[in-house]
Amino acid sequence: MSNANPAQVYRIPAFNDNYIWMLHNPLTKALAVIDPGEAEPVLAALKEHNLTPTEIVNTHHHGDHIGGNEVLRERFDIPVMAPASEESRIANITTPVRHGDRVTIAGYDAEVIETPGHTTGHVAFHLPDCGNGHGVAFVGDTLFSMGCGRVFEGTMAQMWASLSALRALPDQTLICAGHEYSASNAKYVASLNWPRAAAKAHMEAIHALRAKDEPTLPVMLKVEKDANPFLNCDADDLQQAMGMAGADPADVFAALREGKDAF
Ligand code: ZN
Ligand code: FE
Repeated sequence: MSNANPAQVYRIPAFNDNYIWMLHNPLTKALAVIDPGEAEPVLAALKEHNLTPTEIVNTHHHGDHIGGNEVLRERFDIPVMAPASEESRIANITTPVRHGDRVTIAGYDAEVIETPGHTTGHVAFHLPDCGNGHGVAFVGDTLFSMGCGRVFEGTMAQMWASLSALRALPDQTLICAGHEYSASNAKYVASLNWPRAAAKAHMEAIHALRAKDEPTLPVMLKVEKDANPFLNCDADDLQQAMGMAGADPADVFAALREGKDAF
């Protein structure tokens, strides 16, 4: 049964290509701000929609995800939920979270999934039921549309495991990622000559949206399961396209990620 109190998801563009997300609970008026890399666009959105934040949530310690924490925290006196392992790199965490923790975000049940790779302490938040008949996941810089985050701190095998954990979420999960990288990701995917019809269709959809300067996120996880090569490192057709039939999926992931880094 679906939650009778559907959440409202807000997407706030920040910097060149970041998205800051907000999750609003219309019943309780709780409002979570996820990965506020800068405060100004958040303050503008709050004013526009006449909302008041009640909590900050961070997926990882990078400045473009936490840079607005302090202004929002001081102005609204609100708690900060962030990975416990990042207490030395994220100031003033009030709600440290670990893998498997059950928490609430804007009053909705959420599960913490550790997703190391982009950074060692990176986590994602999965909200299985916050209305509209689907879940929502805030995935930071782990999963992007047609791509994934750069592996800065963890290992390639860790990042593959993190993406596999996100892939295991239900098809009907709305993926809220930290960056609008979809078009550049799609160009890289085109270069792979991966004969996957869903990938071709998704690339075309992304380019059509970007040609109109429209966002490609959030995106349903089902689309990414079918079209994102980084979620298909164990699929025969991708392995064949990469010349790596039968290889360890973590090695296929490493080749794919290194190819993107050099693209
Ligand atoms: Zn990052
Ligand atoms: Fe980022």
